[in-house]
Formats: sequence, C-alpha cells, structure tokens
Amino acid sequence: MQIRILGCSGGIGPGLRTTSLLVDGHLLIDAGTGVGDLPATELAAIDTVLLTHAHLDHVCGLAFMADNLFGEIDHPLVVHAIPETLAVLRDHVFNWQLWPDFTALPDPEHPLVVLKSLSAGIGLRVGALTATAFRVSHTVPAVGYVLDAGAGVFAFTGDTSASERIWNALNALPRLDHLMIEVAFPNQEAELAERSRHYTPDVLRDDLAQLRHRPMLHLTHAKPGTEALIARQCAVALQGWQYRHLQAGDQIIV
Ligand SMILES: [Zn+2]
Ligand SMILES: [Zn+2]
Repeated sequence: MQIRILGCSGGIGPGLRTTSLLVDGHLLIDAGTGVGDLPATELAAIDTVLLTHAHLDHVCGLAFMADNLFGEIDHPLVVHAIPETLAVLRDHVFNWQLWPDFTALPDPEHPLVVLKSLSAGIGLRVGALTATAFRVSHTVPAVGYVLDAGAGVFAFTGDTSASERIWNALNALPRLDHLMIEVAFPNQEAELAERSRHYTPDVLRDDLAQLRHRPMLHLTHAKPGTEALIARQCAVALQGWQYRHLQAGDQIIV
C-alpha cells in the first residue's frame, strides 16, 4: 500500500495543504486543498473517496474535483462517509447554491458523484484493501479509517481529541504498523484544543498510553505557524515513540 500525503496541514499557507491522502493512486481519503496539486491524469484515476468528516478543510477539494472531472471520466466518483457527513454535503455543498449538485449531473441516472453511506466497524472492500471506519471524538460526527492491505495495517484518525473509542477500535486490531494521528495545537492552547476537539502533544502522550500496539506515528494537522513549537513539545512528550511530522509530498509505504 502506497499512501501519498497530498496535504496534512491544519490550515493554508505557502507550501501548506489541507488533509488529503492518495492511496494506491485511486483511493482518496479526505479531499482537502492537497488534491489541487494533482495533474489531470492522476485526478481522473481516482474512483473512490472516503471522508472522515464534513469540515471544509477535509471536503473543499471534492467540489473542485467534481468540476474538473465533469465530462472527463467514464466512471462515477464514489464518495463513502457516515450519514451525518453525507447530509452536510447534500444540504450545504451540492445544493445548487454553494455548488452545482454533481450527484444529479449530467443526469440523476448516471451522476458524476455517488454518495454512499457507511457504518463504523463494517469493512469496505476497496481494490486490494479493506477500509474500516471507527468513530472518533470531534466537534462534528467524525470517523478515522483502518486500511488493511494484508501485508500491513495503517490507521488514520482524522480530526479528533482524546477518546476511548479510538483505542478500543485500534486495540482490537491484530496488528497496527502505522498510525497517522493529529496534533493540532501546542500545549499552551490546551483549552482551545479541548473546545475544538483536537490533540495537544501532552494530551496525545497521555492518550497513547492506552494503545497496546507500537506503530510508527505520523503526526499531522498542526495549525499554521505552530509547527516548530509542536515539534519541540512532541520531542519531549513522545519520547520512546518512533514518529515523524508529516508534510505534503511525504509517502507512507505499508
Ligand atoms: Zn475538523
Ligand atoms: Zn481538519
């Protein structure tokens, strides 16, 4: 399994892109601003999208993708997400007001975008791998995903703060080789992190103590301008863990 990080920042700025991962060239996990860097041929190769939640930094690229791909591909773009996320897309994005309804274009029988509801805990076969959602704890209904390619297991939490649900789901796995997890705010902003349901380095350290696996950690979603401070705090908080701070352009090979 090859995972290309198209974006993983908590905001925009020079060289920064918001969350989007391209798996094996055809599966997109979240559609942040990172998808905007893909050449047309690579964009056209995407057939499946898994969304973690409806926040704009994770779905805005979907609107532009649909526009670019309209009339250019002969397969639908199948978007899987929990019902709460799909409802936001229907009501607030593809509603003919913020954006055309690409779930009914070019015609309702053969739409470009197909929205499919998924449930946490139920595996979804996507090409050679199985994707299983697990509930996390954010300000809106949200999930992370476990991707199992047979040879290795990768999990991505999406946006979340401390939650037993994450560790219950991950501890139930027979193995976990790579964990991509967010740490959006520095320790000084613990109150804001708690209110916006994101991790700080110290809260992440405490929560990771519940994990029975010892995966490589890939840290993401730092708010722009806080990267260096978060890195210094993680160097203290995550001693004993193998980890790195992800950037757009990085890859994870599982
Ligand atoms: Zn969010
Ligand atoms: Zn986010």
